[in-house]
Amino acid sequence: MSISKSSAIFENLIGKAESGKDLHREDIILLLKLPADFSPDLFAAADRVRHEKVGDEIYLRGIIEFSNYCDRNCLYCGLRKGNSKLSRYRMTEDEILTTAKQIKNTGVPTVVLQSGEDSFYSQDIVCRLIERIRNETDLIITLSIGERALNDYKAFQQAGANRYLLKHETASRDLYKYLRPGCDWENRLQCLRRLKELGFETGTGNMVGLPGQTPEILADDLLVMKLLDADMLGIGPFIAHPDTPLGGIGNDDLELTLRVLAIARLTTRNTNIPATTALATLHPQGRLLALQAGANVVMPDFTPDIYKTLYDIYPGRKDVGDAREIISDLKKDFQSIGRTLLYSVGNRPTQHNNRIIH
Ligand code: SAM
Ligand code: SF4
Repeated sequence: MSISKSSAIFENLIGKAESGKDLHREDIILLLKLPADFSPDLFAAADRVRHEKVGDEIYLRGIIEFSNYCDRNCLYCGLRKGNSKLSRYRMTEDEILTTAKQIKNTGVPTVVLQSGEDSFYSQDIVCRLIERIRNETDLIITLSIGERALNDYKAFQQAGANRYLLKHETASRDLYKYLRPGCDWENRLQCLRRLKELGFETGTGNMVGLPGQTPEILADDLLVMKLLDADMLGIGPFIAHPDTPLGGIGNDDLELTLRVLAIARLTTRNTNIPATTALATLHPQGRLLALQAGANVVMPDFTPDIYKTLYDIYPGRKDVGDAREIISDLKKDFQSIGRTLLYSVGNRPTQHNNRIIH
């Protein structure tokens, strides 16, 4: 095929994606494999859709990583149970409350409580924590604590949790099974469907650059995100941790991660998509690049310094900086790209009579 003919095909495909027409799996695979010179066009299209569907505001969510204990053994993660080199910590309820109040005082409206799958935090403990945060701070509460029983999810919701983040990680059942020993992909999806049915604003997402991942698998990831009608999508690069079985695998997937993020914006339209910490870890400009390729959320880390370095999912996170520094750097950066930081809730906008309501 001549260069000009294939250029026309690529331009048409980006145009089709921007217009909101449904993309077939083959279309998504082609977008993932576009020659590098088309990346700026793809990112610009995603940026325009982001502007049109969710506006120019960047929503902030304050994250507290309250425990690095984990009952699981995911091959990719530094918190895996088998990593005996890691010193473990659990924040007390009072420490978590104090940190939530700091988030509130900074003006950030949402707290994300994240941890390993730590069975120490029983249904009762998590519910009490949610109730205390609601009563003492009135923050919007997002949980990211892994797979739990339906009963737990119900109780968390009744206690006042609003959102739940549970990435499907990869759409390939085989890869999932290999990477998460003892875990079942269907169960993960079932959890996501249950959370959605219970009325949680639900987040899913994947890692990009996993060993064995193909453009076809990434296309399926994007189809899963669309199919689940998720409200939030966490899309980040896989970064190998030396003390895991995947240690030593190189990662230069910034470009591919941005591509997946941009296509997710084009296919899901009005979802909330964070510029992930993993992207900021991979590249000094990673966060800003993501915000110009479809992202509209930033999640500064408020975990107290004594614990932050121990939440060692992948190397390099400590260089990403303190939450207040991040917010102040973001303010400077955003002026340069015509965006504003928004200290408001940032629910997924819904279209009503062509009006966008946050
Ligand atoms: N334990 C919960 C779970 O797995 O859903 C939440 C905490 S877990 C540390 C949060 C996310 O970290 C996971 O969804 C996964 O995508 C990401 N993660 C783990 N190891 C990673 C790595 N080596 N590189 C990039 N992201 C990683
Ligand atoms: Fe545990 Fe989550 Fe890490 Fe898996 S990804 S080892 S479940 S913290």
